[in-house]
Amino acid sequence: MAIKRQVWKEKFGDWYREIIDTAKIIDYRYPIKGCGVWLPYGFKLREHVLSVIRGFLDGAGHNEMLFPTLIPEDLIAKESTHIKSFEEEAYWITHGGKNELSVKLALRPTSETAITPMVKLWVRSHADLPLKIYQIGSIFRYETKATRPLIRVREVTTFKEAHTFHVSHEEARAQVLAANDIYAKIFYELCVPYVVSERPSWDRFAGALSTFAFDTIFPDGRCLQIGTSHDLGQNFSKVFDLTFEDLDGKHDFVWQTSYGISERAIAAVIAIHGDDRGLVIPPKIAPIQVIVVPILYKGFEEQINSECQHVEKTLSQEGVKVEIDDRSKVTPGAKFYEWESKGVPLRIEIGPRDVEQGKITLARRDTGEKIPCKRGSLSLVGKTLTEIEDNLRNRAWKVMENNISTTGDLTEAKRMLNKEGGIVEVPWCGQAACGQQIEGEVDARVLGLPVGVSEAVSGICPCCGKKGDRRIRVARTY
Ligand code: ZN
Repeated sequence: MAIKRQVWKEKFGDWYREIIDTAKIIDYRYPIKGCGVWLPYGFKLREHVLSVIRGFLDGAGHNEMLFPTLIPEDLIAKESTHIKSFEEEAYWITHGGKNELSVKLALRPTSETAITPMVKLWVRSHADLPLKIYQIGSIFRYETKATRPLIRVREVTTFKEAHTFHVSHEEARAQVLAANDIYAKIFYELCVPYVVSERPSWDRFAGALSTFAFDTIFPDGRCLQIGTSHDLGQNFSKVFDLTFEDLDGKHDFVWQTSYGISERAIAAVIAIHGDDRGLVIPPKIAPIQVIVVPILYKGFEEQINSECQHVEKTLSQEGVKVEIDDRSKVTPGAKFYEWESKGVPLRIEIGPRDVEQGKITLARRDTGEKIPCKRGSLSLVGKTLTEIEDNLRNRAWKVMENNISTTGDLTEAKRMLNKEGGIVEVPWCGQAACGQQIEGEVDARVLGLPVGVSEAVSGICPCCGKKGDRRIRVARTY
């Protein structure tokens, strides 16, 4: 089986919508635009992604909590840039039953204004800091543009937001970088490649001193933001009078950060690893890692079935998520097709010849390769799952790296973005006016300054002609 990725790439938008439907991830026929139902298979995928996220946050000293979904308008309105950014797209509750509420309530668009005033009740002195918490829940945005599964929705059902509180700006800054390291580990596990950029001053989170973002490139060449981290400085603590007493008994405002990952991480997993046959899910987060398909043949039914059960039992004892597809009214061919479209990383076929020869056949979803495996050598399954994971990660990183280019010529940059999409790095003097002019001329968005890139760069800013010591990334984005 040769792996084709033509439809996946050339008709990506259609492919993406279709696969979310046919692989039974989410059903978007719910009667509110941009709201969908997580189906059992999709829900399991979501759970596994969340357990990766939880694992790294818990491991780095964060505690999970849960705040109310409703935020009173007067709290949101306290931070002026914050309300400006969210009031147009927030959902507002104005009535309780027939009574008009004296204070409107927002369905949370994000939680800084819900969390900070509560933390004020819990933090007294430096001994209470740092405080690192997170929650996973729904956020709501009144999207008026066309919605897109898991990418632009009205209820983001899976929003992980972490909030941290510190005694100094230095410590808060270090926490933002630590958050970026945590995200790198999460995306490593999801096999999703990324670049980290510091967003330009005109595109920061409302109320932040600086914003970092993880972006990945989709098969259609457009970029998707898959994670952000913010240095909030003392903006929110000043507004909500959140102070602490330091070692010398002096009071100062608390320094804050926040960082979020949404179900867009799941969108990236779906989009990046797929091919013309459908999903390809990295083994660690796959709802089913191995599907066993009996190839029944007259006279061999009992032997084949008992061999399938032996394989299932042995593998599940080893912690492999394995299932047997023993539906009698579905042909093996139809089963292959279905599990391939659902992205199960490994299929095991067991037919009469396999039973006779004391072997089974492994079929890799990522490469189509068929591997004979001796009955007693089922450890080959675990090894193959690891190889699949490595292959998906390496393949995705290679595609991503091939889609990043550099030019100082804006006509050329625009031509590249029109043709292949991806990310183009352009020399920049550092002035916002020039950055915004670049956005206009190439008809794309500035992702920001590369982070974690050590090479020294220089070039001439294409807008003002001044020598620049940095580049900014531009891309067409979702
Ligand atoms: Zn310039």
